[in-house]
Amino acid sequence: MNKANNTETVESYRFHHIDTNKCRKCTSYDCEEACFRGIYHVINKDSEPKCIVIEDREDRCIKCHICTTQCKFGAIIID
Ligand code: SF4
Ligand code: SF4
Repeated sequence: MNKANNTETVESYRFHHIDTNKCRKCTSYDCEEACFRGIYHVINKDSEPKCIVIEDREDRCIKCHICTTQCKFGAIIID
C-alpha cells in the first residue's frame, strides 16, 4: 500500500517508496548513514538531491525502520 501524501513525486521500488520532492530540500542525507545495509544513495547533491534505492540491494532490507525515523522530511515509506 502506498501511503505517500504526494504520489506524483513518489518513486517506487519493490517495497520502498521515496518522495523525491522532499529530498530536494535535504542537506544532511541521513538515509545514507542510517541504513547500515547500504540500500540508499543520494545523487545530485550539488544541485537537486535525490535519494535512490540501489535496486539490487533492496532485498537486504530488514524493515528496521531506522531510515524512516532518521529522514527528517519523512520522504521514505516502506510497505
Ligand atoms: S530520503 Fe530523506 S534523508 Fe534521504 S535524501 Fe531524501 S530527504 Fe534526505
Ligand atoms: S528499514 Fe532498515 S534495513 Fe531497510 S532500508 Fe531502512 S534502515 Fe535500511
